[in-house]
Amino acid sequence: MSSLPPLRIAVQKKGRLLDESIQLLKECGIKIDNGRDQLKAAARNFPIEVLYLRNSDIPQYIQDGVADIGIIGENTIIEKKKEVEIVQKLGFSKCRLSLATPKDIPYGSVQDLDGKRIATSYPVSLQLFLDANNIKADIHEISGSVEIAPNIGLADAICDLVSTGSTLFKNGLEEQDIVLKSEAVIAASPKIDQERRDILDRLLFRVKSVLAARNKKYLLMNVPTAKVDDIIGILPGMRSPTVLPLAEEGWSSVHTVIDEGRFWDIIDELRTSGAEGILIVPIDKMIL
Ligand code: AMP
Repeated sequence: MSSLPPLRIAVQKKGRLLDESIQLLKECGIKIDNGRDQLKAAARNFPIEVLYLRNSDIPQYIQDGVADIGIIGENTIIEKKKEVEIVQKLGFSKCRLSLATPKDIPYGSVQDLDGKRIATSYPVSLQLFLDANNIKADIHEISGSVEIAPNIGLADAICDLVSTGSTLFKNGLEEQDIVLKSEAVIAASPKIDQERRDILDRLLFRVKSVLAARNKKYLLMNVPTAKVDDIIGILPGMRSPTVLPLAEEGWSSVHTVIDEGRFWDIIDELRTSGAEGILIVPIDKMIL
């Protein structure tokens, strides 16, 4: 057992960030014994302790130093007005806080909301946006099902989190202006001590390696040696590929790392230039 004081990391007790938060820790090689029924769980092989907390309470726990770090939506930090340091964006739970209005009512710009009633669960973020745009509106704070507010005559517009837009669509609403964009982040406490900061650095090194490998693939192909330069020319912006001779004279093997999305853009060109036996292999971690 390590004698280091554990780094206390707050994650959602339940909610949309929980599964991906735990999955990320797992991909970082951290083994957590436990069930979510407990409030906290220690990792077996890394000096970390997981605290399962209510989403909206997490920024406060981090600010107070009860948790050293937390995985939380950026928007929740803004809404709760907490002084915490965002140390790593995580690329999941991407969403935007948007203003939406009934689609049969004309909307020119955000100025049209002056004097109107807006229903939201995010009054602080909305107020900041309205102030920045010099708009005075009546904010109705409600805790859920915000999207039905215009239909039942409670508000003229809503301000809610959107990812695909399907909830707005189903309720006859149209997304108009984006108040802010958000994704899951690791936030750190202003009170974190040096020992735990060192553990955080070790954790961030692992997190960065996991994130770097996501959406990247290892690409291997056999290429006539005479065509190697042409093939390398088709792999733009990448680090110098590895070129190895094959047992068969006149053939080489070319290896490189590629964005998964880019692969489909260049596959036809690779084949026309003589690449054969193309393999795309997932990458587990990338140490940068
Ligand atoms: P939950 O505890 O499940 O309500 O999680 C809320 C957090 O998930 C929000 O504060 C956002 O950071 C994030 N989130 C991501 N996409 C959405 C979405 N479409 N609707 C609501 N929350 C979302």
